[in-house]
Amino acid sequence: MRAVVINGTRDVSVETVADPVLSGPDGAIVEVTASALCGSDLHFYEGEFPVSGLRPGHEVVGTVIETGAEVGRIKVGDRVLVSPVLGCGRCAGCAAGNPIDCTGGGMRVLGGDDSLPGGHAEAVAIPAADAWLMPVPQDIGVDNAVLLTDALPTGWTAAVRADITPGATVLVIGLGPVGLYALQAAQVLGAGRILAADRVPARLAMAERLGAEPIDGTKGDIVEQVLAATGGRGADAVIEAVGQDATLTAAISAVRTSRTVSVVGVDANFAFPIAVPLMIIRNVTMRFTTAPVASTWPTLIPLIRYGRLNPVDVFTHRMPLTEAAAGYRAFADRADGCLKVLFDPTR
Ligand SMILES: [Zn+2]
Ligand SMILES: [Zn+2]
Repeated sequence: MRAVVINGTRDVSVETVADPVLSGPDGAIVEVTASALCGSDLHFYEGEFPVSGLRPGHEVVGTVIETGAEVGRIKVGDRVLVSPVLGCGRCAGCAAGNPIDCTGGGMRVLGGDDSLPGGHAEAVAIPAADAWLMPVPQDIGVDNAVLLTDALPTGWTAAVRADITPGATVLVIGLGPVGLYALQAAQVLGAGRILAADRVPARLAMAERLGAEPIDGTKGDIVEQVLAATGGRGADAVIEAVGQDATLTAAISAVRTSRTVSVVGVDANFAFPIAVPLMIIRNVTMRFTTAPVASTWPTLIPLIRYGRLNPVDVFTHRMPLTEAAAGYRAFADRADGCLKVLFDPTR
Protein backbone atom coordinates (compact mmCIF):
# COMPACT_ATOMS: atom_id res chain seq x y z
CA MET A 1 0.00 0.00 0.00
CA ARG A 2 0.94 3.67 -0.18
CA ALA A 3 1.96 5.50 2.98
CA VAL A 4 3.58 8.78 3.93
CA VAL A 5 7.07 8.48 5.40
CA ILE A 6 8.91 11.29 7.20
CA ASN A 7 12.55 10.63 6.39
CA GLY A 8 13.97 13.65 8.19
CA THR A 9 13.46 17.36 8.66
CA ARG A 10 11.06 18.68 5.99
CA ASP A 11 11.61 15.48 4.05
CA VAL A 12 8.37 13.63 3.29
CA SER A 13 7.69 11.03 0.63
CA VAL A 14 4.85 8.72 -0.32
CA GLU A 15 6.24 5.21 -0.50
CA THR A 16 5.05 1.68 -1.13
CA VAL A 17 5.16 -0.19 2.16
CA ALA A 18 3.93 -3.55 3.42
CA ASP A 19 0.19 -3.80 4.05
CA PRO A 20 -0.66 -3.59 7.75
CA VAL A 21 -1.25 -6.82 9.66
CA LEU A 22 -3.39 -7.39 12.75
CA SER A 23 -1.53 -6.37 15.91
CA GLY A 24 -3.14 -9.29 17.74
CA PRO A 25 -6.50 -11.02 18.25
CA ASP A 26 -7.99 -7.77 19.62
CA GLY A 27 -6.85 -5.72 16.62
CA ALA A 28 -8.46 -4.51 13.41
CA ILE A 29 -7.35 -3.22 10.03
CA VAL A 30 -8.99 -0.01 8.86
CA GLU A 31 -8.97 1.05 5.23
CA VAL A 32 -8.53 4.81 5.43
CA THR A 33 -11.26 6.97 3.86
CA ALA A 34 -9.77 10.31 4.88
CA SER A 35 -6.97 11.51 7.12
CA ALA A 36 -5.89 14.98 8.14
CA LEU A 37 -2.71 16.83 8.89
CA CYS A 38 -2.40 18.25 12.39
CA GLY A 39 -0.11 20.82 13.96
CA SER A 40 1.45 18.10 16.07
CA ASP A 41 2.62 16.30 12.90
CA LEU A 42 4.78 19.35 12.26
CA HIS A 43 6.93 18.65 15.32
CA PHE A 44 8.24 15.62 13.41
CA TYR A 45 8.27 17.37 10.04
CA GLU A 46 10.20 20.37 11.35
CA GLY A 47 12.64 18.19 13.29
CA GLU A 48 11.68 19.44 16.77
CA PHE A 49 11.21 15.76 17.60
CA PRO A 50 13.72 14.29 15.12
CA VAL A 51 12.60 11.13 13.32
CA SER A 52 13.75 8.99 10.45
CA GLY A 53 11.34 6.68 8.70
CA LEU A 54 8.34 7.66 10.83
CA ARG A 55 4.90 6.81 9.42
CA PRO A 56 2.74 9.73 10.60
CA GLY A 57 -0.97 10.44 10.70
CA HIS A 58 -3.32 10.28 13.69
CA GLU A 59 -6.54 11.89 12.44
CA VAL A 60 -8.16 9.01 10.61
CA VAL A 61 -11.56 7.69 9.58
CA GLY A 62 -12.13 4.61 7.49
CA THR A 63 -13.81 1.27 6.99
CA VAL A 64 -12.95 -1.89 8.90
CA ILE A 65 -11.68 -4.57 6.51
CA GLU A 66 -10.39 -7.19 8.96
CA THR A 67 -10.81 -7.99 12.65
CA GLY A 68 -9.02 -10.31 15.06
CA ALA A 69 -10.76 -13.27 16.69
CA GLU A 70 -11.38 -11.43 19.99
CA VAL A 71 -12.96 -8.33 18.44
CA GLY A 72 -16.68 -8.29 19.20
CA ARG A 73 -18.30 -4.88 19.01
CA ILE A 74 -16.59 -3.74 15.80
CA LYS A 75 -17.48 -5.55 12.56
CA VAL A 76 -15.93 -5.78 9.10
CA GLY A 77 -17.63 -3.12 6.98
CA ASP A 78 -18.14 -0.66 9.83
CA ARG A 79 -17.33 2.94 8.97
CA VAL A 80 -15.34 4.02 12.02
CA LEU A 81 -13.77 6.85 13.96
CA VAL A 82 -10.24 6.01 15.10
CA SER A 83 -9.02 7.27 18.46
CA PRO A 84 -5.42 8.38 17.95
CA VAL A 85 -4.65 7.96 21.65
CA LEU A 86 -4.81 4.33 22.63
CA GLY A 87 -4.07 2.10 25.58
CA CYS A 88 -4.20 -1.62 26.25
CA GLY A 89 -8.00 -1.52 26.19
CA ARG A 90 -8.26 -3.81 29.23
CA CYS A 91 -7.04 -1.99 32.36
CA ALA A 92 -9.13 0.22 34.65
CA GLY A 93 -7.86 3.41 33.02
CA CYS A 94 -8.79 2.20 29.54
CA ALA A 95 -12.13 0.87 30.80
CA ALA A 96 -12.87 4.37 32.11
CA GLY A 97 -12.20 5.70 28.62
CA ASN A 98 -8.93 7.42 29.41
CA PRO A 99 -5.93 5.81 27.71
CA ILE A 100 -3.68 8.38 29.37
CA ASP A 101 -4.31 6.42 32.59
CA CYS A 102 -3.49 3.08 30.94
CA THR A 103 -1.50 0.84 33.27
CA GLY A 104 -1.26 -1.97 30.74
CA GLY A 105 1.64 -0.55 28.76
CA GLY A 106 0.79 3.14 28.86
CA MET A 107 -0.71 5.54 26.36
CA ARG A 108 0.33 5.25 22.74
CA VAL A 109 -0.31 7.68 19.89
CA LEU A 110 -1.10 6.52 16.38
CA GLY A 111 1.65 7.68 14.06
CA GLY A 112 3.63 8.88 17.07
CA ASP A 113 6.42 6.33 16.92
CA ASP A 114 7.55 3.35 14.87
CA SER A 115 5.49 0.87 16.90
CA LEU A 116 2.16 2.24 15.68
CA PRO A 117 2.37 3.34 12.02
CA GLY A 118 -0.03 6.17 11.30
CA GLY A 119 -2.95 6.84 9.04
CA HIS A 120 -1.48 9.00 6.31
CA ALA A 121 -1.70 5.75 4.42
CA GLU A 122 -4.17 3.56 2.59
CA ALA A 123 -4.73 1.41 5.67
CA VAL A 124 -3.81 1.26 9.33
CA ALA A 125 -3.65 -1.43 12.05
CA ILE A 126 -5.43 -0.55 15.30
CA PRO A 127 -4.89 -2.57 18.50
CA ALA A 128 -7.70 -3.08 21.04
CA ALA A 129 -10.19 -2.21 18.32
CA ASP A 130 -13.30 -2.55 20.49
CA ALA A 131 -11.95 0.18 22.76
CA TRP A 132 -10.53 2.63 20.23
CA LEU A 133 -12.80 2.38 17.19
CA MET A 134 -16.39 3.56 17.09
CA PRO A 135 -18.88 3.22 14.23
CA VAL A 136 -19.60 6.64 12.75
CA PRO A 137 -23.27 7.58 13.11
CA GLN A 138 -25.06 7.93 9.75
CA ASP A 139 -25.68 11.64 10.25
CA ILE A 140 -22.04 12.55 10.87
CA GLY A 141 -20.29 13.47 7.61
CA VAL A 142 -16.70 12.69 6.71
CA ASP A 143 -15.35 16.15 7.59
CA ASN A 144 -16.84 16.14 11.08
CA ALA A 145 -15.82 12.51 11.54
CA VAL A 146 -12.18 13.39 10.86
CA LEU A 147 -12.44 16.39 13.16
CA LEU A 148 -13.83 14.12 15.89
CA THR A 149 -10.56 12.17 15.90
CA ASP A 150 -8.51 15.02 17.40
CA ALA A 151 -9.21 18.68 16.71
CA LEU A 152 -12.72 18.75 18.16
CA PRO A 153 -11.98 16.54 21.21
CA THR A 154 -8.81 18.51 21.96
CA GLY A 155 -10.53 21.88 21.63
CA TRP A 156 -13.46 20.62 23.70
CA THR A 157 -11.29 19.15 26.45
CA ALA A 158 -9.19 22.32 26.55
CA ALA A 159 -12.34 24.33 27.25
CA VAL A 160 -13.73 21.85 29.79
CA ARG A 161 -10.45 21.93 31.72
CA ALA A 162 -10.32 25.75 31.69
CA ASP A 163 -13.03 25.90 34.40
CA ILE A 164 -15.33 28.11 32.31
CA THR A 165 -18.35 29.33 34.25
CA PRO A 166 -21.48 30.79 32.62
CA GLY A 167 -20.89 34.38 31.61
CA ALA A 168 -17.11 34.13 31.93
CA THR A 169 -14.64 36.05 29.79
CA VAL A 170 -12.50 33.45 28.04
CA LEU A 171 -9.22 34.13 26.23
CA VAL A 172 -8.21 31.70 23.49
CA ILE A 173 -4.60 32.08 22.32
CA GLY A 174 -3.98 30.46 18.94
CA LEU A 175 -6.73 30.20 16.34
CA GLY A 176 -5.73 27.14 14.41
CA PRO A 177 -8.37 24.41 14.21
CA VAL A 178 -7.93 23.36 17.85
CA GLY A 179 -8.15 26.96 19.07
CA LEU A 180 -11.21 27.64 16.93
CA TYR A 181 -12.93 24.54 18.33
CA ALA A 182 -11.91 25.51 21.86
CA LEU A 183 -13.59 28.84 21.14
CA GLN A 184 -16.76 27.11 19.96
CA ALA A 185 -16.63 24.76 22.95
CA ALA A 186 -16.33 27.73 25.30
CA GLN A 187 -19.51 29.11 23.74
CA VAL A 188 -21.31 25.80 24.34
CA LEU A 189 -20.06 25.86 27.94
CA GLY A 190 -21.62 29.27 28.51
CA ALA A 191 -18.80 31.77 28.07
CA GLY A 192 -20.17 35.30 28.03
CA ARG A 193 -17.33 36.94 26.16
CA ILE A 194 -14.49 35.43 24.18
CA LEU A 195 -11.23 37.18 23.35
CA ALA A 196 -9.42 35.42 20.51
CA ALA A 197 -5.71 36.03 19.94
CA ASP A 198 -3.60 35.22 16.90
CA ARG A 199 -1.30 36.94 14.43
CA VAL A 200 -2.93 35.76 11.18
CA PRO A 201 -5.65 38.07 9.81
CA ALA A 202 -7.75 35.27 8.25
CA ARG A 203 -7.84 33.36 11.55
CA LEU A 204 -8.77 36.47 13.52
CA ALA A 205 -11.56 37.08 10.99
CA MET A 206 -12.86 33.53 11.43
CA ALA A 207 -12.96 33.99 15.21
CA GLU A 208 -14.76 37.29 14.82
CA ARG A 209 -17.36 35.67 12.56
CA LEU A 210 -17.90 33.11 15.33
CA GLY A 211 -18.68 35.93 17.74
CA ALA A 212 -15.32 36.46 19.45
CA GLU A 213 -13.42 39.73 19.88
CA PRO A 214 -10.13 39.54 17.96
CA ILE A 215 -6.84 40.29 19.73
CA ASP A 216 -4.25 40.91 17.02
CA GLY A 217 -0.79 39.91 18.22
CA THR A 218 0.85 41.92 15.45
CA LYS A 219 -0.64 45.12 16.84
CA GLY A 220 0.89 44.95 20.29
CA ASP A 221 1.38 42.75 23.31
CA ILE A 222 -1.45 40.22 23.76
CA VAL A 223 -1.38 40.53 27.54
CA GLU A 224 -1.64 44.31 27.49
CA GLN A 225 -4.55 44.12 25.06
CA VAL A 226 -6.36 41.58 27.25
CA LEU A 227 -5.77 43.57 30.43
CA ALA A 228 -7.02 46.71 28.68
CA ALA A 229 -10.14 44.85 27.56
CA THR A 230 -10.88 43.47 31.03
CA GLY A 231 -10.35 46.47 33.28
CA GLY A 232 -6.91 45.18 34.27
CA ARG A 233 -8.26 41.92 35.76
CA GLY A 234 -7.37 39.50 32.99
CA ALA A 235 -9.49 36.73 31.51
CA ASP A 236 -11.56 34.42 33.72
CA ALA A 237 -10.17 31.44 31.82
CA VAL A 238 -7.35 31.10 29.30
CA ILE A 239 -6.88 28.41 26.67
CA GLU A 240 -3.41 28.12 25.12
CA ALA A 241 -3.51 26.39 21.73
CA VAL A 242 -0.19 27.41 20.22
CA GLY A 243 2.58 25.68 22.16
CA GLN A 244 5.34 28.26 22.22
CA ASP A 245 7.21 29.77 25.17
CA ALA A 246 5.93 33.27 24.41
CA THR A 247 2.27 32.28 24.21
CA LEU A 248 2.49 30.11 27.33
CA THR A 249 3.97 33.05 29.20
CA ALA A 250 1.25 35.31 27.81
CA ALA A 251 -1.42 32.85 28.95
CA ILE A 252 -0.06 32.85 32.51
CA SER A 253 0.13 36.64 32.53
CA ALA A 254 -3.30 37.25 31.01
CA VAL A 255 -5.35 35.06 33.35
CA ARG A 256 -7.25 36.57 36.24
CA THR A 257 -6.10 35.73 39.78
CA SER A 258 -7.23 32.35 41.13
CA ARG A 259 -8.30 31.17 37.67
CA THR A 260 -7.14 28.53 35.23
CA VAL A 261 -4.88 28.31 32.21
CA SER A 262 -5.65 25.26 30.07
CA VAL A 263 -2.82 24.25 27.75
CA VAL A 264 -3.22 22.04 24.69
CA GLY A 265 -0.54 23.60 22.50
CA VAL A 266 2.44 21.26 22.42
CA ASP A 267 5.55 23.24 23.33
CA ALA A 268 8.56 21.13 22.36
CA ASN A 269 10.64 22.91 25.01
CA PHE A 270 11.50 20.49 27.82
CA ALA A 271 12.92 23.38 29.87
CA PHE A 272 10.16 25.97 29.65
CA PRO A 273 10.86 28.59 32.33
CA ILE A 274 7.66 28.72 34.38
CA ALA A 275 7.32 32.05 36.16
CA VAL A 276 6.75 30.45 39.56
CA PRO A 277 6.52 33.67 41.63
CA LEU A 278 4.03 35.12 39.17
CA MET A 279 1.88 32.02 39.44
CA ILE A 280 2.15 31.60 43.22
CA ILE A 281 1.21 35.14 44.16
CA ARG A 282 -1.67 35.02 41.69
CA ASN A 283 -2.89 31.48 42.57
CA VAL A 284 -2.89 30.40 38.94
CA THR A 285 -3.93 26.85 38.10
CA MET A 286 -2.39 25.34 34.97
CA ARG A 287 -3.65 22.21 33.27
CA PHE A 288 -1.85 20.43 30.44
CA THR A 289 -3.97 18.07 28.43
CA THR A 290 -3.92 15.23 25.97
CA ALA A 291 -7.57 14.71 25.12
CA PRO A 292 -9.06 11.29 25.95
CA VAL A 293 -10.49 11.31 22.43
CA ALA A 294 -12.82 8.30 22.48
CA SER A 295 -14.52 9.34 25.72
CA THR A 296 -15.45 12.74 24.25
CA TRP A 297 -17.48 11.17 21.43
CA PRO A 298 -20.64 10.52 23.49
CA THR A 299 -20.64 14.25 24.35
CA LEU A 300 -19.60 15.78 21.03
CA ILE A 301 -21.71 13.67 18.66
CA PRO A 302 -25.06 14.77 20.17
CA LEU A 303 -23.86 18.38 20.34
CA ILE A 304 -23.15 18.23 16.60
CA ARG A 305 -26.24 16.18 15.75
CA TYR A 306 -28.66 18.56 17.45
CA GLY A 307 -26.98 21.70 16.17
CA ARG A 308 -25.55 22.95 19.46
CA LEU A 309 -22.04 22.72 18.02
CA ASN A 310 -21.52 23.49 14.34
CA PRO A 311 -17.79 22.98 13.76
CA VAL A 312 -16.45 25.76 11.57
CA ASP A 313 -14.97 24.46 8.29
CA VAL A 314 -11.19 24.42 8.65
CA PHE A 315 -10.26 22.24 5.67
CA THR A 316 -8.65 24.81 3.39
CA HIS A 317 -6.74 22.15 1.45
CA ARG A 318 -8.00 18.80 0.15
CA MET A 319 -5.59 16.68 -1.82
CA PRO A 320 -4.70 13.16 -2.89
CA LEU A 321 -2.38 11.30 -0.52
CA THR A 322 0.08 11.05 -3.40
CA GLU A 323 0.60 14.82 -3.06
CA ALA A 324 1.33 14.59 0.66
CA ALA A 325 4.76 16.21 0.36
CA ALA A 326 3.15 19.35 -1.05
CA GLY A 327 0.47 19.18 1.64
CA TYR A 328 3.00 19.02 4.46
CA ARG A 329 4.96 21.89 2.93
CA ALA A 330 1.90 24.13 2.48
CA PHE A 331 0.73 23.38 6.02
CA ALA A 332 4.13 24.02 7.58
CA ASP A 333 4.58 27.26 5.65
CA ARG A 334 0.97 28.38 6.27
CA ALA A 335 1.05 28.93 2.49
CA ASP A 336 -2.06 30.01 0.65
CA GLY A 337 -4.01 30.48 3.90
CA CYS A 338 -3.49 26.83 4.80
CA LEU A 339 -5.35 26.00 8.01
CA LYS A 340 -5.85 22.25 7.72
CA VAL A 341 -5.14 19.61 5.07
CA LEU A 342 -7.35 16.60 4.32
CA PHE A 343 -5.81 13.69 2.42
CA ASP A 344 -7.75 11.30 0.19
CA PRO A 345 -5.78 8.03 0.28
CA THR A 346 -7.73 6.56 -2.63
CA ARG A 347 -5.98 8.95 -4.97
ZN1 LIG B 1 -3.98 15.97 15.61
ZN1 LIG C 1 -4.96 0.18 29.49
